[in-house]
Amino acid sequence: MAKKGIVKFREERCKGCGLCVRACPKGVLHIGDRINSKGYTVVEVRDGSRCTGCAFCAEMCPDVVISVFK
Ligand code: SF4
Ligand code: SF4
Repeated sequence: MAKKGIVKFREERCKGCGLCVRACPKGVLHIGDRINSKGYTVVEVRDGSRCTGCAFCAEMCPDVVISVFK
């Protein structure tokens, strides 16, 4: 079975820039409907079962929003 990862977001720091969404090779992330206290639409997990824990998303995020756990 392929390795699985779990991604966690410090959502209040997310600016909804979408860089992590584009960085994810598995299409796990998307910009959802929820808005944080700063008024940004925040990133969400769309299909966590596809996450491999590669951490490309976390490396891409300029605001250190994402932590990846394996
Ligand atoms: S760890 Fe990799 S597979 Fe998982 S959400 Fe981030 S970029 Fe996508
Ligand atoms: S790269 Fe960071 S700030 Fe941009 S949408 Fe993803 S989690 Fe939010």
